[in-house]
Amino acid sequence: MAPLDKKEEYGAFDSVDEIFKIPALECGAMADTNTFAAAPEHNEPLGFPGELIDNWQEVAIAKMGELAEKNRAFQVYLDACVKCGACTDKCHYFLGTGDPKNMPVARQDLLRSVYRRYYTFAGKYFPWLVGARDLTKEVLDEWYTYYHQCSQCRRCSVACPYGIDTAEISMAAREILDTVGVGQKYCNEIIAKLKKTGNNLGLNPKALRATLEDLEEELEDETGIPVKLPLDVKGADILLITPSADFFAEPHIDGLLGYAKVFHAAGVSWTISSYASEAANFGMFIGSYENMREVSWRIRQAAKDLGVKRIVFGECGHAWRVGYSFLNTLAGPFDFLDQNYPIPQHIMEFTSDAIDDGILKIDKSKNDEFIMTYHDSCNVARGSSMGRKEGGQFDLPRKVLKAVCNHFYDMEQDTIRENTFCCGGGGGLLTDDLMDLRIKGAKPRMTALQQVTTDHGVNKMAAICAICKTQFSKVMPKYGYGMDDIMSVHQLVANAVILDGQETEEDDAPETAATEEK
Ligand code: SF4
Ligand code: SF4
Repeated sequence: MAPLDKKEEYGAFDSVDEIFKIPALECGAMADTNTFAAAPEHNEPLGFPGELIDNWQEVAIAKMGELAEKNRAFQVYLDACVKCGACTDKCHYFLGTGDPKNMPVARQDLLRSVYRRYYTFAGKYFPWLVGARDLTKEVLDEWYTYYHQCSQCRRCSVACPYGIDTAEISMAAREILDTVGVGQKYCNEIIAKLKKTGNNLGLNPKALRATLEDLEEELEDETGIPVKLPLDVKGADILLITPSADFFAEPHIDGLLGYAKVFHAAGVSWTISSYASEAANFGMFIGSYENMREVSWRIRQAAKDLGVKRIVFGECGHAWRVGYSFLNTLAGPFDFLDQNYPIPQHIMEFTSDAIDDGILKIDKSKNDEFIMTYHDSCNVARGSSMGRKEGGQFDLPRKVLKAVCNHFYDMEQDTIRENTFCCGGGGGLLTDDLMDLRIKGAKPRMTALQQVTTDHGVNKMAAICAICKTQFSKVMPKYGYGMDDIMSVHQLVANAVILDGQETEEDDAPETAATEEK
């Protein structure tokens, strides 16, 4: 890859110079960028009205009051902002589009101004004094537009001295919209599909089994070892909950093969469930507790039915946020699982432990053609943790990467770990009708990537989020990179792990990762 001197087509931009140019400020520049609205068949299975209801204004205002009463944090977020401006330049969509309405504080104010009008003394009697406004159809439309230009990444909340979380406001706004029948097609269609088939793809158990058998064949051709990808095995120790993208898309599949190799090398019994064959939980994106709970409940049911002892999550950012932060309250208690392990556990913890225990034979030179960097996914970085030590969500993926690759460089500090930039496609925005926004929103991340390409020759970026991987494989070509320049962390693990009995090209015996980690 040589992205900086490529002179081919740059998608939305005329030239490579234009790609990284900071856009001029233009209020309302993104006002016409709207995601497709859900049809009745997408809304109704989720328990929402099929289309905008007649008394929508009354219902929306009541829902706002209900949310403020039930969720104290939401009310504090609406009351506490002092307009200090610390969050204004933290949003990748503002930086990429130049639209001040994409500043986090402006996004919050879309809802705050209405809340003030109906739920504060000053707003009721002196609305002009406190920037309060009526909930009109125009305001509702503006909510739909700009709350679907927020990926709920929380980068702005790290900068806010009051900890105001725009993601929570964005979720509340979407919940209110859904309640009056204005849903987003992408999210609602996916949730409805999951409820019907167990995964976002609508893949039935027969098709899933055939897919896994094909992958087993692929692994055996490559290694000469019959590595299994088991489905619905009762009594297995581990239930793997992974995003369905791992079953069909690149580079996700290669990550799944990596988990299988690690489980095989560790000698554990594991299984995937056809009933809960999806880690993703889009209920969070639309702010719907009921839908988030229903999706989570399938995981509990699958674990019980299969009689497993542990639950391990694959590489999926928001799934891990729901799993780590909410699974026990949504679908617990998980007292029927082995309490000696985290419930749930992340595959990165599992692999990290296997490395520490010297279980994995690793040949790092298998990844020598890759000069790696790592993209922290928002929901892992700011919405959860991992492992037994603070900061594990940042350190474990880097530790695993360094154990399987010889060349690794981090991007600029202000763009990684808790300050990471969103890929531009999170929060339910990974849909083609928002491609322009997605390309522009990826700009801050791609600028940081370009820097390590220039400084260190970095030619690949790894991630542990299915949405990030899909987003980057689509938008990286617009920035002069290849669509395969985004990789799964476990894809690199798969390349480097040598299984017992596996034929290798080299005569030299591989060293163990425990002795090699930098
Ligand atoms: S949560 Fe992320 S996308 Fe939303 S306003 Fe804040 S920085 Fe922007
Ligand atoms: S940083 Fe916090 S207090 Fe300051 S403008 Fe943004 S949301 Fe308001």
